Amino acid sequence: MDLVIASPKPVTVPVQGGGAFPVRRIYCVGRNYAAHAREMGFDPDREPPFFFAKPADAIVANHGVMAYPAHTKNLHHEIELVVAIGTGGAAIPVETALTHVYGYAVGLDMTRRDLQLALRDKGRPWDMAKGFDQSAPCAAITPAAKSGHYTKGAIWLKVNGEVRQSSDIAALIWSVAETISVLSGYCRLEPGDLIYTGTPDGVAAVVPGDVLEGHVDGLEPLHCRIG
Ligand code: MN
Repeated sequence: MDLVIASPKPVTVPVQGGGAFPVRRIYCVGRNYAAHAREMGFDPDREPPFFFAKPADAIVANHGVMAYPAHTKNLHHEIELVVAIGTGGAAIPVETALTHVYGYAVGLDMTRRDLQLALRDKGRPWDMAKGFDQSAPCAAITPAAKSGHYTKGAIWLKVNGEVRQSSDIAALIWSVAETISVLSGYCRLEPGDLIYTGTPDGVAAVVPGDVLEGHVDGLEPLHCRIG
C-alpha cells in the first residue's frame, strides 16, 4: 500500500568494525547503582528494577552536539552502559539472557532533573523529563564477540576534563543478564532494542558549551557537546 506521508528515517548506531545497528526501542533502567539511588533520596535495597523508555530518534551520534532543551534549568548527565539486543525473546531466563546481546556501547541518559522531580512528586509520567529530543547520546556499539560481556569495568564521565561520575559496572544492583530477564517479562525484546542500564552516582547539571566525555572500559569513548 502506498504510504500517505514519508516514512520516518531509520535510526542507526554505528558498529565498531563496520556496519550499523538499527534502533527499534530504547529502554532505560531506573536507580540501578546503590550510590545513585541514595543521592536521589531512596533506599538502595534490592527492590525489583523499574523501567522507562525514550523514543528511538532521541539518539545523538558520537561527537554530536545536543541542543540545550527547553523547559529545564537543570539538565543532568547520566553516564550509562548501553546493551544492544541482537535476538529477541520474551520472559528470557537469566541463564541464557546474555545470548540475546549483540553488543555494548557508552551512552548518556540526559535528564531534565527539575521537571522529573516535579512530575515524580505529582505521580505523573516521566516522559517529558527523560524521553525528549536528543536525550540519548550514544557512541558506537562494540560487538560482544569482541568486548566480552560486562560484569565489571570502569565507567566514568568527565565534563570539561573534570571527573563527575566514576564507578564500576560491578556496582550494578541488577546485572545485565538480570535486567534483560526482568524487562523481557514486561515487553518482548526484539533485535534493535537498546537498554540503558542505569547511572552511578555523581549526576549533576551541564550548561551550554560543556563538553562531555564518557568511558566504559573496552568501548568507544562517547563525546558530546551541549549546544
Ligand atoms: Mn538513567
